[in-house]
Amino acid sequence: MIEIKDLHKSYQMGSNSLHVLKGIDFSVKEGELVAIMGSSGSGKSTLLNILGMLDEADSGSYFLDNVPIKGLNETKAAQYRNKFLGFVFQSFNLINYKTALENVALPLYYQRKKRKERTEKAMNYLGKVGLSEWATHLPSELSGGQKQRVAIARALAADPKVLLADEPTGALDSKTSYEVMDIIQSINDEGKTILVVTHEPDIADMCKRIVHLKDGVIVEDKKVEQVRASQYV
Ligand code: ATP
Ligand code: MG
Repeated sequence: MIEIKDLHKSYQMGSNSLHVLKGIDFSVKEGELVAIMGSSGSGKSTLLNILGMLDEADSGSYFLDNVPIKGLNETKAAQYRNKFLGFVFQSFNLINYKTALENVALPLYYQRKKRKERTEKAMNYLGKVGLSEWATHLPSELSGGQKQRVAIARALAADPKVLLADEPTGALDSKTSYEVMDIIQSINDEGKTILVVTHEPDIADMCKRIVHLKDGVIVEDKKVEQVRASQYV
């Protein structure tokens, strides 16, 4: 599903250059649930943004569902992004003046689906995250966990191949974090490929595979069972 090889990324700030990703090799198969860990500033969001086609690498290759993602023009890139990818962010990024249902239906609007289909699908995804009864509420009337569940439903509405979540539990207390991760697990159980950036070991432990970024490279890439086992050695 995702194949990247020798990915490099630097940021230019004036005359200084910060080399953030220094040769990342990484692949993800369909149906995986992967946590990307690493300390603050290690490049997790930079990597996720490149995977999400929100940013481009300086060098290296990236194939998404066997499509080479490099040097695409903006129109093509936007097409692939809408077709392949769903995003969830720490800060929810819901539209405040739209109801939960309208927020979830938005990607379907951009896909030019008819109103009836938009409403049906959006209700279905709200149901999946346990919020059928909150459809007509505004984000300001929802708790943090509920807002994130709306954001997850919205990310799923366009039926992306891959769901990319950057610190989806970063703004939530631990109980709510586990509830949101339960939903992410159940979506993965249905077959969706999901990448979760987190710096919380308990959250990473709810994924199937844990990848560690440090100093611009992947220093560890293990199944969660292996990580758990090594903690008791
Ligand atoms: P956190 O856990 O705090 O979210 P992160 O692992 O997601 O950190 P990144 O946001 O990928 O880290 O940032 C990696 C490094 O690149 C940091 O040193 C950051 O300051 C720098 N950086 C990120 N975005 C930019 C940018 N647009 N311009 C310049 N430097 C940037
Ligand atoms: Mg980050």
